[in-house]
Amino acid sequence: MNQTAPEPNFSVALIDTLSQSRKELLSVINKSLNAAATFADVLPDLEGYMLKFLEGQRLTVYQNARDGQEIIAKYKTGQELLEIRLPLTATSIAGYVAVSGNPIRIDDVYDAEALRRIHKTLNFNAQFDQRSGFRSRSMMVVPIKNNAPLLGVLQVINKVGGDRFSEEDMKLALYLAGLLAKKFHQEFEATDSPYDFLVKRELITLEKIDAFQKRAKKEGVTMTYLLVQEQKIPQELIAASLASYHQVPFMRYDPNITPPKNLLKKLNMSYLRRQLWVPLAGDPNEELLILIDDPSDFARQMEIQRALPAKKYIFRVGFPEDILQYLGGGSVSSFLHGLAGKMEDEDVEDSERLEEGVEAGEINENESTVIQLVHRLIIDAYRAGASDIHVEPGKGKSPSAVRLRIDGICKQALEIPSTHIRAVLSRIKIMSRMDIAERRKPQDGKILVKVKGQPLELRVATIPTVMGESAVMRVLASGSGVSFDKLNLSERNYKELDRLMLTPQGILLVVGPTGSGKTTTLHSVIGRINTPERKIWTAEDPVEITQPGLQQVQIDHKIGFNFAAALRSFLRADPDVILIGEMRDAETAHSGIEASLTGHLVFSTLHTNSAPETIIRLLDLGLDPLNFADALLGILAQRLVRTLCEACKQGYKPQEEEWERLQRLYGEQYWDELGRKREETVLFGPGGCGKCNKTGFKGRTGIHELLVNSKRLTKAIAHKGTAEELRAIGMEEGMRTLLQDGVVKVLKGQIDLSQLFRVAVE
Ligand SMILES: [Zn+2]
Repeated sequence: MNQTAPEPNFSVALIDTLSQSRKELLSVINKSLNAAATFADVLPDLEGYMLKFLEGQRLTVYQNARDGQEIIAKYKTGQELLEIRLPLTATSIAGYVAVSGNPIRIDDVYDAEALRRIHKTLNFNAQFDQRSGFRSRSMMVVPIKNNAPLLGVLQVINKVGGDRFSEEDMKLALYLAGLLAKKFHQEFEATDSPYDFLVKRELITLEKIDAFQKRAKKEGVTMTYLLVQEQKIPQELIAASLASYHQVPFMRYDPNITPPKNLLKKLNMSYLRRQLWVPLAGDPNEELLILIDDPSDFARQMEIQRALPAKKYIFRVGFPEDILQYLGGGSVSSFLHGLAGKMEDEDVEDSERLEEGVEAGEINENESTVIQLVHRLIIDAYRAGASDIHVEPGKGKSPSAVRLRIDGICKQALEIPSTHIRAVLSRIKIMSRMDIAERRKPQDGKILVKVKGQPLELRVATIPTVMGESAVMRVLASGSGVSFDKLNLSERNYKELDRLMLTPQGILLVVGPTGSGKTTTLHSVIGRINTPERKIWTAEDPVEITQPGLQQVQIDHKIGFNFAAALRSFLRADPDVILIGEMRDAETAHSGIEASLTGHLVFSTLHTNSAPETIIRLLDLGLDPLNFADALLGILAQRLVRTLCEACKQGYKPQEEEWERLQRLYGEQYWDELGRKREETVLFGPGGCGKCNKTGFKGRTGIHELLVNSKRLTKAIAHKGTAEELRAIGMEEGMRTLLQDGVVKVLKGQIDLSQLFRVAVE
């Protein structure tokens, strides 16, 4: 926008320069507008004054039809009330002003070239002239808007006593449009900002809105998320707030609607995700239904006109989460799922006091008693070590039961009065980000909360039953991870990993079969570099370990939010460190390497057995050997081995035979580096005591094989060397195999050979 509505100071100055007769006209216009109930009532009387004020022959005042589709002008000829409706497209002159927000001035509307210079689809509709015999020539058309949202369009035709409207005339038109905007704003009961509706209802303060907006920007979350999660405002009210500000109807996500492929194929998906709009239905030759998060963003409105031209549009305002959900991957809602909501439990009241608050009617889900009751439920379940919380509806007016499953057995914990049950379920659904209006279909969701600073995740399922809705919440113990120092890395592996994780860019892989502790290791590595100045994003499936400070995202295959999609969306979030849960496919591997070559430190895992084999696997996936060799920092292969019970392990002097076996396993040529002598060594075997359930083993520890990239390795990878060659270079440069690392841990008395052989073969 190059021209905006006049500033207040400017207006005062403008009025001062006006002639006495213009000042009088303005005061009449002002008074009539203030006195009238609606603009339509006063328009017939005002028209003459406005024309005189603007020195025009004719004028048309359009109002926003507030249906997201049209602007509409009503006027009387004789007894007849006529209407002109214009679609919100850049094809008509007033339509262009409505969608672009730009005021325009045209010397001759029949000069098609001049119109095209303003906008390439702009066109003058001569029908009205032809019917009436009126000849339109010069025109000035200005938007009527208070803030951003469009309230109407003022169109003035043919300058009286001149060929064209001047810059000065335009200022007067903009000034008058400002007065009309005030009137329309009042008439439409429009609000002053997207969340003003909520502020007016005292659901939130302006200061908090400001703070949320700053946080939304900084933390990459949406306002909807903060308003729902932290301010506990129902989504319906946020929707109403957006609709009343933008003067465009709101539309929720509807799983039955799929954006038509023929429309999407004309558009770039990542472009749409960035722009936050989506065509949901229709035909460009007729009309298109467009969902957009900010319909008052004129620049984007013009983008839509350019990217997807249509005869007519039906605009709807929607939540960014919903728009992204239609667009598949990169979903903000997936991001939101990954972010833990904070829960304060200090104000939680005793649930017995609930009875006092019970009124005759139903309680709504925003009652503080209900909020506290649900919090209380979760905290009690957590403290009791419950694995599930069942909320089961009672028959008729009888209370609902809450049962906790502890050590596999269900126990009744609490009763909820029938007046509260619906509110409690709605509350659970809000916390799980489910649709609270949907009561007939089962839904899945999850709740992430903090109880006494400990993150806690609940997987929630609601199921409709004949007696009403029931909910089951599964409590997932959110692992707090293991510190880097506790990984039991050899001195060399510890030092090298410690160095690699501080490299600003490159890729570090942890590999091994399922259950080999890859995630634990990655999280302890990330935990070591998790400092406020590093922005770390993780995509995991599932999120098993949560850490404060990380942006952790849950993969959701249902909506196409896979690792590759997560990676794409991360790269837009300007991360320093990225954890991609697994490099399952070529696309993910490619984009992971790409990211690691463009200034990001990337961590990931693979299901491969050894470090050298991992390189071969990735090259087989089609990675460019040169790029990969360049990006690779190192590969850590690992296994978990059961450890001997410290309380009962049995020491013994190894026999010659066993000693030779250890020597052979470690490799004759390397053995001397250990500096071990049989006579001085005590080995350990399992005993059996109360602490280890008489098994002799308790807990597990890792054995590791760390291949660190080097000049020689880079060369060998680039030349597509065999696993054996890569391994030989690695060994020469200090790598030790899983088995060797295991032998060292046998010699240290942490594990025994029988357990080592279960996970690592000779
Ligand atoms: Zn024991």
